[in-house]
Amino acid sequence: MSYNKEMFELGNHGSAIRELYEYGRKRRQIVGDMNVYDFSIGNPSIESPKIVEETLVNLIKNKKSTVLHGYTSAVGDESTRISIKNQLNKTYNANVDHNKIYLTCGAAASLAITLNALYSTHDELIVFAPFFPEYRVYSLNSGYKFVIVDPSPDFKINYESLERSINKNTKVLIINSPNNPSGAVLKEEDIIKLATYLKKKEKEFNHPIYIISDEPYREIIYDDIKYPFITNYYDDSLVCYSFSKSLSLPGERIGYIVVSSNAKDSDEIFKAVAGAGRALGYVCAPSLFQYLIANVVEETSDISKYKENRDYLYNSLKELGYELIYPDGAFYLFMKALEPNAISFMERAKKHDLLLVPSDSFGVKGYVRIAYCVSLEMIKNSIKAFKELKEEYDNEK
Ligand code: PLP
Repeated sequence: MSYNKEMFELGNHGSAIRELYEYGRKRRQIVGDMNVYDFSIGNPSIESPKIVEETLVNLIKNKKSTVLHGYTSAVGDESTRISIKNQLNKTYNANVDHNKIYLTCGAAASLAITLNALYSTHDELIVFAPFFPEYRVYSLNSGYKFVIVDPSPDFKINYESLERSINKNTKVLIINSPNNPSGAVLKEEDIIKLATYLKKKEKEFNHPIYIISDEPYREIIYDDIKYPFITNYYDDSLVCYSFSKSLSLPGERIGYIVVSSNAKDSDEIFKAVAGAGRALGYVCAPSLFQYLIANVVEETSDISKYKENRDYLYNSLKELGYELIYPDGAFYLFMKALEPNAISFMERAKKHDLLLVPSDSFGVKGYVRIAYCVSLEMIKNSIKAFKELKEEYDNEK
């Protein structure tokens, strides 16, 4: 065969989210932008803060272009890594070392690199349903056996299923809080419980079990919930971060990996991260955006607008009688489909020009994800369509 069959399959079948997004793009050309209620994709709708533009202009005007557009160190510019370290240590009272930070092209690259760096033969990776579908892709590409823990009623951690899934081959667990697609947030007590459980399992199996905390939505958290930074609670941990959502920069591909200074074999793991970055071709993240981050690492877009969207959408759909998971963070609402098959529910919603992602690819059946990172005006206009959809089902009872 002249090509890699597994890669062909990945390229040939795009993600369900992307397919729906493409459908929406075409549909908008026919019926007009404001008549398609496209809740398919997690593209931030809020502008980056003004300081992002100002800093970029300043960098372009004042920094020597051979430096600005040149290669940085493979692991990333040192002053940027120091800024990130300072921000993390100040905000979370953490113990991050800038020599354990690797700058990458967003959370996607952070995850692909980290999983590759930790893998050895026979290793298994645990994810908690519902999960970001691309975990499966990165996992299989590294070589892990991909193990899914069933959802718990609150979409946090189902310990009975975890206990059945964990074994001596378990090397890594991915947690994702605030969660895509459920919006659930692991609070401090949830992290303490998980850390205590895993420390026991490390002793039982006599080897480290790493937590990868995938946290592109870390700052998109509502109602004054305190974010528990994983390295403060569990030594064998790594953070995969991205500025895609917090600064509304998803197309610029910038993020980082932190290896906990207290992780078993921390120095070697960091070198393996650098090696995996090299092997996967992710050396030197985009330099202009590295220099930007050095200046704006403490900033975020105006997150209060997502909260306004959440409150309006949640309350309106609740009033219509939909069953929903209350989202403490991210910009997704997980809603029970009005029939067991979420894919046929999605098809019926489409007839009302409501684009909702079925939960199947997130590892859960019977739900849809509503990405409410859209304008409040669109959310308000969409409620009529949600109402009609509900009535259609009610009339069939
Ligand atoms: N992890 C989760 C949970 C996500 O939702 C996303 C993107 O939507 C990513 C990782 C990838 O983020 P990035 O665009 O920074 O690569």
